[in-house]
Amino acid sequence: MDTKISLVEKGCINRIGELFTEAFNHSSALLVSDENTLSVGGFAVVKSLEQHKIPVRQCCFPAEPMVYADEFSLAKLRESLRKDRSIIVVLGSGTLNDIAKRISFEFGRPYMVVATAPSVDGYTSYGAAVSLNGFKQTLPCSAPYAVIADTDILCSSPMPMIASGFGDCMAKFTAGADWIVADLLGIQPIRKDVWDMVQNPLHHVYARCQAIGSRDPVSIGMLFDALSASGFAMQIMHDSRPASGSEHLISHVWEMEHLQASHGFKVAIGTVAISYLYEKLQTLDFSNILENKAETWEERESSIRRVFPSDKIYEQVLPIAKAKFLEGKALEERRKAILHVLMAIRRKCAEQLPGYRNLSQAMQTVSCPTKALEINATRQDLVRAIKGAQMIRDRYTILDLLYEAGLLDEALSTLEGLAV
Ligand SMILES: [Zn+2]
Repeated sequence: MDTKISLVEKGCINRIGELFTEAFNHSSALLVSDENTLSVGGFAVVKSLEQHKIPVRQCCFPAEPMVYADEFSLAKLRESLRKDRSIIVVLGSGTLNDIAKRISFEFGRPYMVVATAPSVDGYTSYGAAVSLNGFKQTLPCSAPYAVIADTDILCSSPMPMIASGFGDCMAKFTAGADWIVADLLGIQPIRKDVWDMVQNPLHHVYARCQAIGSRDPVSIGMLFDALSASGFAMQIMHDSRPASGSEHLISHVWEMEHLQASHGFKVAIGTVAISYLYEKLQTLDFSNILENKAETWEERESSIRRVFPSDKIYEQVLPIAKAKFLEGKALEERRKAILHVLMAIRRKCAEQLPGYRNLSQAMQTVSCPTKALEINATRQDLVRAIKGAQMIRDRYTILDLLYEAGLLDEALSTLEGLAV
């Protein structure tokens, strides 16, 4: 693993200088922040670095408009890092972390994260979620050498950021269910050690939703640890499969369309919708799937165009959707395989998931949105995002299973049952 130092502790922001020296010797530091995170922890970080005689420069993004991980933000940080041999200390959460991670990788330098909120699992992961040319993608890069989270700062972060982290954490329920499906179909086997790393802390966090909602420091620390564990799992697997399934693909569609809501909120809505589809999976009629009509590739192209009217996105999605498109004998084989393991999928996924109502309730306890309308998306937007989620990546999920069985539209028509 790239991450050699991981510290979640009350007051540890005052130890940044010591930890930086331990990690990188006496290099100079480039503090990357935005105006909000700078006001929260900037003073303490700079003071601690200076006490250890580490020269600090700064690259600060404005608070408004909100910084976005795109080619413009990347260029700004690239310009700043080019000036000397500094090592980045990024003070912030999701987006800043993605930008810092990617640019450090471009320069072949390690970096340190000082987390300001338990808002995402991306702190400790490989790969940066960046939007280039309007297309959301995960670019390769190293995970941070050091991750520092002061629980005093985490607890005082805005409630929507805590709620986002809770949503991103609950996503591991459906991500796990999707992995079970891929495992049973022989597409991607479950790795037990990695599975446990992600799934065990998830249950503790779920059980502590009330305490997290009232900012109990121990429980907030557990949320941060659970999110970090997902990142470590992704580092070990070199793949985001352990932490990300169809619920994340829904959020990726919305991210490509610049829907204004946090990653965790979009993922939370996706998690509830996918949990709902898993409940539907229990009762959907699979008995005729060998005869069910399947799209031709020409029909498929038109469907993709309907979901992604923008030329730019359509052209990027097309080859991915083509590569996973099954027809003829290959589709028949897959349908037989689905029938063969359907009972096992139903049983194991029912054990894996707490049920969409329970999940929604837990999320609401932490003030996390559960309905599309709460992030200004309509039911049609949700249906379209779910269809798009099945097109944009080769990761096998429940959506592929339903699509290949010819049951996706029928399953989506029942979404009315979900109050969206
Ligand atoms: Zn996530």
